[in-house]
Amino acid sequence: MIKLRDIDKYVDSRFQRTFILKSVNLDVQQGEFLTLMGPSGAGKSTLMNIIGMLDEPSAGEYFFFDEPVHRMKEKQKSDMHKNYIGFIFQAYHLIDELTVYENIETPLLYKGVSGSQRKSMVAEMLDRFNMVAKKDLFPEQLSGGQQQLVGIARAIVGQPKLLLADEPTGNLHSDQGKQIMEIFQKLNEEGITIIQVTHSEENARYGKRIVKVADGTIVSDEQVMVGA
Ligand code: ADP
Ligand code: ADP
Repeated sequence: MIKLRDIDKYVDSRFQRTFILKSVNLDVQQGEFLTLMGPSGAGKSTLMNIIGMLDEPSAGEYFFFDEPVHRMKEKQKSDMHKNYIGFIFQAYHLIDELTVYENIETPLLYKGVSGSQRKSMVAEMLDRFNMVAKKDLFPEQLSGGQQQLVGIARAIVGQPKLLLADEPTGNLHSDQGKQIMEIFQKLNEEGITIIQVTHSEENARYGKRIVKVADGTIVSDEQVMVGA
């Protein structure tokens, strides 16, 4: 599904080139649940943003379902992003002026899904996450855990193939974090490929594979032992 080949990301200043990612190679198959870990500043978010087509590498090749993303124009990339990828952020990134319902509906509007279909797809999300009674509330009226549920609903309402989550539980209490991880596990069982960034060993154990990043490179790549 994802093939990264010799990906570099750097920023140039007048006197020097600073590498954020250096020679990153990574393959992710459909159905995986992969966790990126590593110290702050290692390049994890940059890597997630490249995979999510929100940022582009300075050099190297990125294939998504064998399509060369590194050669795509912006429009093509945003279409790919819209159709195949859901993104979840640490700080939720909900739109304050929109209700729960409208936040969840947003990606469907961008995708051009018809009115009646939008209605049933949003209703399914509200039902799934027990938010029917909260559909007309605004984000600030919700707890952090609930806001992240809306963030997840918005990310998956369009039925993406890939779910990217950058520290989705970073602002939450551990019980809320556990709830989010259980949802991820369920979604992965249903077939969505997941890549998450986390600092939590406990969260990492919900995944199947742990890739560690340090100083802009991958330093280890291991399967999670069942029952460990
Ligand atoms: P992580 O998610 O692992 O904490 P990031 O990908 O956010 O790491 O950042 C990696 C490093 O790259 C950090 O030192 C950060 O300051 C730097 N960085 C990220 N984006 C840019 C940018 N656009 N320009 C300059 N430096 C950047
Ligand atoms: P959670 O465990 O999901 O974070 P909380 O314990 O923070 O929930 O909140 C419990 C209940 O209080 C929630 O069902 C929510 O509806 C309500 N609530 C939480 N924060 C707010 C808020 N800022 N405004 C209105 N209601 C809130």
